[in-house]
Amino acid sequence: MSIKNVTIAGSGVLGSQIAFQTAFRGYNVTIYDINDDVIAKAKDRMHGLVDTYKAEVQDQSEHLTVFLQNGVYESTILPNLKDTLINDLTTSRKNAEAVPGSISYFTDLGKAVKGADLVIEAIPERMDIKESFYKELSSVAEEKTIFATNTSTLLPSQFADLTGRKNKFLALHFANEIWKNNTAEVMGTQWTDKDIYNEVVEFAKGIGMIPIELKKEQPGYVLNTLLVPLLDAAQMLLAKGVADIETIDKTWMLATKAPFGPFGILDIVGLKTAYDITANAAENDPEYKELADMIKNDYIDKGKMGVATGEGFYKY
Ligand code: NAD
Repeated sequence: MSIKNVTIAGSGVLGSQIAFQTAFRGYNVTIYDINDDVIAKAKDRMHGLVDTYKAEVQDQSEHLTVFLQNGVYESTILPNLKDTLINDLTTSRKNAEAVPGSISYFTDLGKAVKGADLVIEAIPERMDIKESFYKELSSVAEEKTIFATNTSTLLPSQFADLTGRKNKFLALHFANEIWKNNTAEVMGTQWTDKDIYNEVVEFAKGIGMIPIELKKEQPGYVLNTLLVPLLDAAQMLLAKGVADIETIDKTWMLATKAPFGPFGILDIVGLKTAYDITANAAENDPEYKELADMIKNDYIDKGKMGVATGEGFYKY
C-alpha cells in the first residue's frame, strides 16, 4: 500500500503546517478539529501559509535547483544528499494558492478518517487529551489506517495500547516551520511493523522532509536529546557566573563552526519554552531554581521573549 489519503488531527501551529505541506506535495488531505470555530481558524492559517510558501518555497526552490545542478554546492554537500535535494526540488508540487481549497475539513472524527491511509495526530501535548482521542480514533478508523503521533515529549508506547493497532502506530515528529526546517523524525515502538515504518519514511520523503530514522524509542528523539543538554549547560554556565552570554556563544561557534551559539538558539526557540523547561527541573534541583528565577526576572517579566519580540538574550 502506498499512502495517498492523509488526515491531520489538530489544526494548530504544527497541524496546519503539516496539512499544508502534505497537500502542497499532492496528497489528499483532510483536517479534523474539535469545533467550527477552530476549523475557521485553521482556514485562516492555511491562507496565511499561502504567502509564506510563495515567498519562501515556490520561488526559492527554482533558484536552488539551478544552483545544485550547476554544482555550486558540490564541495560542501554530501553527494547523495545533493541527489535527494534535486529529486525533491523537481518533483511535482501544487501551486500554493490552490492548497487551502484542496483540503477537506471535518469536526466529526468518523467522517474525517474515512478512507484515510494515514492519520497524523497533532493535538495538545496532554496525556488525557491524547488518550481519549486515541480511544475514539481506534473505534472509527478503518483497519488499514496507520496512526502517527507528532508528540514532542511523550513516547508512542505510552498510548500504543489505545490505538487498537500497535503494529501500525509510530511517531512522526516534525519541526516548527516545516517548509524550511524539514526534518521528520520517525520513531517506532517495539511493536511497530517494519514495513509500516518504511512506508512512513517514504511518505516523509514524499512530502519533502528529510527522514531521521530512529532505531528505538528515545525521549526527545535525536535532535532534542542533543540540543537540550547543550542549552541547559550554557544557561548553567551563565547562572553560576562562569562566563557571560557572548563568551559562551563565541566559544561554541568558533570551536564547532556552528552558525549560532546556545543563547542565539534560545532566542529563536523563545525564552518562555526555556523557562518552562528550567522551572520543571527546578522542582527537583535547587540549582535550577536560581536559573529559572533569573530567566523570569531578567527577561520574561521585561517582555524579552527572544527573536519574536525583538529582544531576548540579544537585541534584534
Ligand atoms: P496547538 O495548541 O497549536 O494545536 C492543537 C490543536 O489541537 C488545536 O487546533 C486544538 O483545537 C486541537 N485539539 C484540541 N483537542 C483536540 C482533540 N481532542 N481532538 C482533536 N484536536 C484537538 O498545538 P501544537 O503546537 O500544534 O502541538 C500539537 C502537537 O505537536 C503536540 O503534541 C506537540 O508536542 C507537537 N509539536 C509541536 C511543535 C511546536 O513547535 N509547536 C513542534 C513539534 C511537535
